[in-house]
Amino acid sequence: MGVGIGDLRGCRVSLREPDLNQRNTSVTPWSPRTLHERPRTVTQPMSGNAKKSMSIKHHGSCLCGGIRFTITGTLEPIQVCHCAQCRQAQGGPVATNIPVDVSALAYERGEELLQHYESSPGKIRAFCKVCGSPVFSKRDSLPGVVRIRAGLLQEPVKAQLAFHAFTGSKASWWPITRGLPEYPEWAPTPPKPIS
Ligand SMILES: [Zn+2]
Ligand SMILES: [Zn+2]
Repeated sequence: MGVGIGDLRGCRVSLREPDLNQRNTSVTPWSPRTLHERPRTVTQPMSGNAKKSMSIKHHGSCLCGGIRFTITGTLEPIQVCHCAQCRQAQGGPVATNIPVDVSALAYERGEELLQHYESSPGKIRAFCKVCGSPVFSKRDSLPGVVRIRAGLLQEPVKAQLAFHAFTGSKASWWPITRGLPEYPEWAPTPPKPIS
């Protein structure tokens, strides 16, 4: 992918690496032995939902404002990941991720400030090298898609939560608001938008 790898000192790679980029894909069933490797998927064309409303623009930035970007089109539902890696990467109980096709993502400034860290083989987490804001993650096995961190987007954000994933390894001190699908590990199927 030609991406750089960040400073590995002090970073710990956990055994499991979730990948919630299952949008618009067909997925083979998960099994614990396959958690290191992304299950074989066949990427399908973007849905009509993803294609519509291409005139909508969402704006986002990191904390220092050095990185600014826009996302064109309707946002996918927000995926909440409770895994240990996401907790460490965010410094909080969860990561809130929106899958975005790179064709819909444009940088207004600061793309050169992105620092890449390979948190597990083929999995890149990108953050601002100035302020440390997590910006997105991506996988070699799913080219063309980044998962933007929802907290970077300017309010209001119309996208709603899709599901909780990796609740089996969630922070013991963080309650989960009920009413959404919960998965102890991977989300088994592509999420359906909540309308
Ligand atoms: Zn920044
Ligand atoms: Zn995670």
